[in-house]
Amino acid sequence: MIDHPSFPADPWLIQETSVNPEVLAQTETLLSLSNGYLGLRGNLDEPDPFEEAGTYINGFYETRPIQYGERAYGYAEDDQTILNVTDGKVVALAVDGEPLDVRTGRLEAHGRELDMREAVLRRQLRWRSPGGHTVEVRSRRLVCFTRRHLAAIEYEVTVVDGPVTLTLTSEMVPNQSEQTNTSDPRASAALFGQVLLPAFAHGEDERVVLGHVTRSSRMKLVTGMDHVVHTDQPYEVDQSFNDDRGTVTYTVRAEAGSTFRLVKYLSYHTSATDSSDVLHGRARDLLDESKALDFEDLVAEQRAYVQAFWDDADLVVEGDDAVQQAVRFALFQILQASARAEVAGIAAKGLTGQGYEGHYFWDMETFVLGVLTYVRPEVARSTLLFRHMTLDAARRRAAVMHQAGALFPWRTINGEEASAYFPAGTAQYHIDADIAYAVQRYADVTGDTDFLEDYGAEILVETARMWFSLGSFQDRKGGAFCIDEVTGPDEYSALCDNNTYTNLMAAANLRSAAAVASRLRDTDDRLYRRLAQRTDLEPHEIDDWQRAADAIYVPFDDELGIHAQDDEFLSLDPWDWEGTSPDQYPLLLHFHPLVIYRYQVIKQADLILAMFLQGDRFTRDEKRAAFDYYDPITTGDSSLSACIQAVVAAEVGYLEKAYDYARKTALMDLADVNHNVGDGIHIAAMAGTWIALVHGFGGLRQPDGTLRFEPQLPPEWDRLAFPLHHRGHVLDVSITGEDTTYTLRSGDPVTIEHWGEELTLTAGEPVTRPTGPPPA
Ligand code: BGC
Repeated sequence: MIDHPSFPADPWLIQETSVNPEVLAQTETLLSLSNGYLGLRGNLDEPDPFEEAGTYINGFYETRPIQYGERAYGYAEDDQTILNVTDGKVVALAVDGEPLDVRTGRLEAHGRELDMREAVLRRQLRWRSPGGHTVEVRSRRLVCFTRRHLAAIEYEVTVVDGPVTLTLTSEMVPNQSEQTNTSDPRASAALFGQVLLPAFAHGEDERVVLGHVTRSSRMKLVTGMDHVVHTDQPYEVDQSFNDDRGTVTYTVRAEAGSTFRLVKYLSYHTSATDSSDVLHGRARDLLDESKALDFEDLVAEQRAYVQAFWDDADLVVEGDDAVQQAVRFALFQILQASARAEVAGIAAKGLTGQGYEGHYFWDMETFVLGVLTYVRPEVARSTLLFRHMTLDAARRRAAVMHQAGALFPWRTINGEEASAYFPAGTAQYHIDADIAYAVQRYADVTGDTDFLEDYGAEILVETARMWFSLGSFQDRKGGAFCIDEVTGPDEYSALCDNNTYTNLMAAANLRSAAAVASRLRDTDDRLYRRLAQRTDLEPHEIDDWQRAADAIYVPFDDELGIHAQDDEFLSLDPWDWEGTSPDQYPLLLHFHPLVIYRYQVIKQADLILAMFLQGDRFTRDEKRAAFDYYDPITTGDSSLSACIQAVVAAEVGYLEKAYDYARKTALMDLADVNHNVGDGIHIAAMAGTWIALVHGFGGLRQPDGTLRFEPQLPPEWDRLAFPLHHRGHVLDVSITGEDTTYTLRSGDPVTIEHWGEELTLTAGEPVTRPTGPPPA
């Protein structure tokens, strides 16, 4: 399965052993560095070659009207696109006037490695220039976790035979090209022309600061660079800048054996509200303060930060180095996409590429927060706060759609709906229930009732309200609460009635809202009045929601004896599997949506996802029957599918299948399974790796707040181990083929379940039970 690019299986390193221009886009994505605010693609240090010289800032976007050939009422108005901002990564080297370029001269050695223990990208090369001079270059790059607005590059040249004249040009370039691949809906649409308009430019000594404003969204960006040189060779510095470029150039007459070491400090500040002057002041302060630190100091800070993350989150897989590497890579991507996002979303590609235009989808709540809630709950909280911050936009959108409450956008950066194809966009109303689910899960796992009362309750109420107005009690379905004309997670079926996933998630949403509102009503008058005032809550609504939830319609096919994905799905004709050649996948690139919609063919887990997230609504036999029917007709054309298939396969006893799906999700990006990693990583699949292992093989479920485990281990692995944060405690779980050991790190005793048996855990006293289901 692993074809290109392939990496030696190392548990902590992603090593590129030679540079291959054929797979530049892939390696740029995979060697990206990011802290959740600022992302730098893994471009080479020199300006060429590159596929996409990407630098992204979370939440920094340009808008433009969506161009429709035909419009209709209520279509999303404006698109938002993440911007490729000023590129500060470039350090160009020339040796006696000949530019270092891996395609010229003789590249005698070249290697890069992403070290996941310290979040540093290292590079080493030996190059003989066309003129016959050999140099060795060693560079390191990081995007700071501790200093949110800072990145740094260390670039060191050693002259092997000399003397030669070295010219190092450190650049800052705004308005890099935008991607223009528009035939693939998963890539980014092109933004034409100059988007970053110059606001100011400033230079002094070895520092340049450039300010820009986006053309239409009017967001401000200030990028600064400063430098420190270490060498005993004499050198000259020349600094220059204009609106379109800043450069600082070093010219050195270097003897053989001598070394020139440059540390470049890069600052990025952005705002929708603060002035460019204010941002300039922040850039100046940050550059002053950072310059006092050597690169090694920054590495030490970085290492400490990342180590703390691994203490909280590491997922150990013994017995399979390639999977271990992929699992760590997946978690590392979650760290990179979220750590310093603060009150912002997490894009489907993190900050590694412009695929899906940098939009936030349900990938964030259902997948990424599914992990962060258990490993970094405080980051999950900030992400949910971002959704809360966009509640007013969601209220406006619900009004446009003639619904009560709030309807969150299917895809967005600023909270406004940006999805232009409504059958697979706005029709995915389930986004509301996904967000509500994430709010409730966060509250259950952390016990953070303050969050629920201050923010979560408002989200639950407004989304429950949306469902109550969208659905209706239908006589022809025996008075059941039905929800028509929606698209579930499976985008190969659109505009269906009673999508089981949507109905069950909506019911859970209605129930959570009723529960929190009635609890406050019965126990805390002040908080209840505050909620009622913020949401205009009427007392009868609580009963309405409960009634609708209790009466939710769940389609079941008596003839086949299985749950139906929706009212119509099981009546559709089968897809022509034999007549579909392997190169016609993903189907979305080869068939008109109307063709796909007519058949029983599934893009991604839908009913099967309901069987995971609403697992208590189904028996194990029902799950197995549904899995047997739906799994063979699921293409997995979406990267969000394999992980969920893994979880349910494990639950119904198909361990080998679960293992295959878990591997697929884990290797999604490193092995470029979907052939589009060049557009950016698949953050949901990365989160799905944790989900597949912890919920799949760990068998973790938490329907009522209690941690329940049903561990099993695929025979290919020797051990699986992971920590979980739960209500302020950390619980370590270690699963071998024989035993499972639970160890509570600290705090009060906790009661969990292991294959139905209650276990009370006391801090520091491991409890061990046999792995696998107890004998019947
Ligand atoms: C999937 C969606 C997902 C989106 C972004 C689509 O292909 O069908 O479920 O949210 O990609 O990852």
